[in-house]
Amino acid sequence: MMRSTAMRRYVILFLCLAVIWAGFPIAGKVHAADPGDEYDGLRQRWYEMLTGGNYDPADPDIANAIQVITDKAESNWNTMNAGPGSRTYLWSDLANGATNPTHIRLSYQRLYEMALAYRTTGSSLEGSSAVRDSVLDGLQFLNETYYNDAVTPYGNWWEWQIGAPLALNDTVVLMYDELPASAIAAYTGAIEHFVAGPRDTGANRVWSCAVAVGRGILTKDGATIQRGVAGLSPVFDYVTSGDGFYEDGSFIQHVKFAYNGSYGLSLIENLSTVFYFVTGSSWDVTDPKSANAYRWVDDSFIPFVYKGALMDMVRGRDISVFSREDHDMGHRMAAAVLRMAQSAAPVDAARYKSVIKYWLLNDTSHNFYEGLSLDFIRQAKALLNDSTVTPAPEPVASKVYPAMDRALHLRPGFGVGISMFSKRIANYETTNGQNLKGWYTGAGMTYLYNGDSDQYGGNFWPTVNSYRLPGTTAVAGKNMQAESLNNQTWVGGTSLGDDYSVVGMSLEHIDADITADMNAKKSWFLFDDEVVALGSGITSTYPSNDVETIVENRRLNAAGDNALTVNGVLKSSAIGWSETMTGVKWAHLAGSAAGSDIGYYFPGVATLEGLREERSGKWFDISKYTGVLEPGDPAHTNRFLNLYFNHGTAPTDASYAYALLPGKTASAVNSYAGNPDFIVLANNSSVQAVKEKTLGVIGANFWTNSEQSVDMITSSGKAAVMLREDGGGSLSLSVSDPNQPASAR
Ligand code: CA
Repeated sequence: MMRSTAMRRYVILFLCLAVIWAGFPIAGKVHAADPGDEYDGLRQRWYEMLTGGNYDPADPDIANAIQVITDKAESNWNTMNAGPGSRTYLWSDLANGATNPTHIRLSYQRLYEMALAYRTTGSSLEGSSAVRDSVLDGLQFLNETYYNDAVTPYGNWWEWQIGAPLALNDTVVLMYDELPASAIAAYTGAIEHFVAGPRDTGANRVWSCAVAVGRGILTKDGATIQRGVAGLSPVFDYVTSGDGFYEDGSFIQHVKFAYNGSYGLSLIENLSTVFYFVTGSSWDVTDPKSANAYRWVDDSFIPFVYKGALMDMVRGRDISVFSREDHDMGHRMAAAVLRMAQSAAPVDAARYKSVIKYWLLNDTSHNFYEGLSLDFIRQAKALLNDSTVTPAPEPVASKVYPAMDRALHLRPGFGVGISMFSKRIANYETTNGQNLKGWYTGAGMTYLYNGDSDQYGGNFWPTVNSYRLPGTTAVAGKNMQAESLNNQTWVGGTSLGDDYSVVGMSLEHIDADITADMNAKKSWFLFDDEVVALGSGITSTYPSNDVETIVENRRLNAAGDNALTVNGVLKSSAIGWSETMTGVKWAHLAGSAAGSDIGYYFPGVATLEGLREERSGKWFDISKYTGVLEPGDPAHTNRFLNLYFNHGTAPTDASYAYALLPGKTASAVNSYAGNPDFIVLANNSSVQAVKEKTLGVIGANFWTNSEQSVDMITSSGKAAVMLREDGGGSLSLSVSDPNQPASAR
């Protein structure tokens, strides 16, 4: 049933109210006039967090956020099936609650959105008794029909135990003064029925603790709050296998996936909220290991936010969700870090705030505040206006994350992320019909972050050719098998201090065809102004598929006409241009924004394929999960520039070599090609090594257990080595065995 007239709405709401009172015969309202106790104080803190506290509704960003809240609530309200009658759903697009608990959770979410508008200062729906009554009616309907203590759960457990309870708890906080005590008891009793207390590991565990703490606050049950807080303790421990935080900064969820930026983000969002709720209360977190959580902010979260973009290489299947592009989630990370600052020691809080200020000032993507809470916007604006908080400098770092097969290299003006997989970490996750084309995202995908801050936004994922991701070596047209480990243990690298790294990956293609295989040895040398990439031993037994190494697949400007110069010659900017280019020494692609030009240098010259193409796709092509579909399912279009090596069909011991030169002009790339900073010392299946002459740094990956020498380095076995001649005869040396032979995993 759709609503149309105010009169009808009035009549229906009258009926709803009658139902509410009939449904809860002992309806004694709990009112704000009750003498406040500590629980009321915690609930008030929670309420203000949800509603944003004391802000200026006239501030344009605040006004915009209020409008978004109002529009969402209006839309929910206008489409709500008001009943009472014999309805089986609240929204026609969420009609399958009887079989699909996602529809129950999303119905609660919509009621929350309506309750939020009802409570939002400055919203046209603020204080609307009609909205209030619809929310109360909806809560009662869901409780009586789907979500009560007599129901045996079905479908995805997460919806019953985490998704629905979080939305329901928040809604009860907003409507607390309007709800009969019996209703609060029924709703929180249902939550208790489905999830009595903390469960599971990692992000799921923190979620379940947040649910318990929230329920305890609402029911004034100190033991349940305490249980929720104490339940966090296992999460604080660093792990050496399975789910959780690793000492190196990695965060793993679902045993074999890198997830700092998705499950890890949810974890820190909920953890920071629980910390904030209970800080200074009788249930404050006393476990000394909780200090680790503040270290995670520095080690596991901040490094993966590039000027407000949360790197896709640690976001798993979340990259396939239309509303969760890298900046969307990076801004949410900023909000979580800011909330961590609210419970952190002053020295930690000051550091976090400086970093957030740097992000706020250097994010040139869309409005930082879009989609964020009033609470965050108010605090972020205060931060920007607080002259005592100095923005952090641009981070410069180089680090390998062996526990999740990732590498990160941050230099002035650019950042590089490398995403790999192995016998320990799987290639990509595709649960719940999501990330359907993530095939090659773990096959050495090389992300380049620079002044083009929206490179991986703007519908990159549904439009990019998923067979040709930058940095990968791929069997053309072959999907990699989902959620797969392989037999390769040599994946990782080593870093010289915090400056430079050498990274390597023994790549094995995995798909359903067990009669054919493709293997390659891939190395990256992460220096000051260049990233050198070497490949060797590229051997395939697929009888009819080319093997390609993708140097570049860059999303272009709206016209798709970014200038491409090769060996000094300007190539066609027409969509559809393709060419097999021989004798390529260098190339240059003009950026779409300041500071986003990219140079490419090919030692020893190369034969290179070029393609400028326009591609269209829908988010539904890569994610079909009900809860996160793009409304209207529109097709999106982007233009891309491809540069790749075609190693041909069934190559044996093919190789490649190239260097990325971020931020250089065409003439600077031309100069570099005439006098490169580095020389390739070796590029074969036994060793790959590069010397950066101006830095005096050598990186070498030794792939076998036989004795090998390059320059002044001799290794008796498998190793990643980086060495710097510091002058005066002194050397700095860094070595690892990426096979992790001592690993418990
Ligand atoms: Ca250099």
